[in-house]
Amino acid sequence: MNKYTEAFLKEMPKSDLHLHLDGSLRIPTLIEMAKSNNIKMPSYTEEGLRDQVFKSSYANLGEYLHGFQYTCAALRDLENIERACYELAIDNQKENVNYIEVRFAPQLMMDASAGLTMETVMEAAYKGFEKAKKEYNNSTEVKNGSKPEFHYGIISCAMRKFGPKGYSPYYTNFYKMMEFSKEMEVIREAALQMVKAAVKIRDEKGIPIVSIDLAGQEDGYPPGKFKDIYAYAHKNFMHKTVHAGEAYGAESIFQAITECYADRIGHGYYLFDEGKITDEKVTDKKKYLSDLITFVADKRTTIEVCLTSNLQTNPGIGDIKNHNFKHMLANRMSLTLCTDNRLVSNTNVTQEFKLAVDNFDIPVKHLKDIVAYGFKKSFYPGEYIEKRNWAKNVMKHFDEVAKKHDVAI
Ligand SMILES: [Zn+2]
Repeated sequence: MNKYTEAFLKEMPKSDLHLHLDGSLRIPTLIEMAKSNNIKMPSYTEEGLRDQVFKSSYANLGEYLHGFQYTCAALRDLENIERACYELAIDNQKENVNYIEVRFAPQLMMDASAGLTMETVMEAAYKGFEKAKKEYNNSTEVKNGSKPEFHYGIISCAMRKFGPKGYSPYYTNFYKMMEFSKEMEVIREAALQMVKAAVKIRDEKGIPIVSIDLAGQEDGYPPGKFKDIYAYAHKNFMHKTVHAGEAYGAESIFQAITECYADRIGHGYYLFDEGKITDEKVTDKKKYLSDLITFVADKRTTIEVCLTSNLQTNPGIGDIKNHNFKHMLANRMSLTLCTDNRLVSNTNVTQEFKLAVDNFDIPVKHLKDIVAYGFKKSFYPGEYIEKRNWAKNVMKHFDEVAKKHDVAI
């Protein structure tokens, strides 16, 4: 196996393109927020929360998702959103993550009666990220060129499932307003409102909302049901990523690409599993998968791989060596390593790289490709030429760090 030191993995420039705000709060911050906003939690100590809620392994997806009710409640507050975004950027900068794309479903936080609208929520997030970005980019090390700049983008998620109660004040009201419509009509309409607002806020306020995403229960709510929403984003020059193939078969990835114009795929875990295909129209499963893998690889549709999170939400994988990451590597797909949720998955980007290089054979050239995809396939919110120069600069820095740590390229 490869012998990259943890010091090298920490110092090399990195990105995180799949990072949920509500799954990535600092525990002490969450405790403070819960206390000041009277949010009921099973414990108010770091130890207690790690023991009962934010564990290192989970029995199933349900247990994994349990903690989000507390973080989402804490984020129904503009000051808290700003603080969480600021701290998240700082935590990433500390481990030399030079680019983050942070995603969240604004409608989970929205509550018009408390002044939380799509606009105010996005503005609060923007304030937090901008503050951290400016501080970092004004530092001596960035100014004298010894470290590359930090940038970020925001990904606005639509929830693929929500019900009349218990999701958020916004969703509860939305359901009430559409009481004569079917569940899927309500869900799609809410998603459409989200994407229209995202485009408007991006265009009018200059807030870098770079992409939309679909989050939440995948099984029963495949991407194809949201194709109109993705078409709207597509026609408004907004990038697209979709959680697909995480808890539902390869058909979900197929729909994300063919119906939702996905530039990137979140997880894409079941791209290699014949047994997970349930679509009866697929008669030759082997050929279907082979064609799909070739298509994804050839188009360089990037897979946002979240190793720790996959092991936690899908305990059936068992050993990390069984993870489909080995097939993704062997097929030379466009890959990027991501955390998914720094708090809930109890991880960071350095740790995800460590897990990858400790368990899979990744020569330095391939490692460098993976790092590079995190910048090249990012939805960087600026002009292409600017992005290109920045990505080049980051990769030049990668070479310097490699040299310093005696990693031969
Ligand atoms: Zn995710």
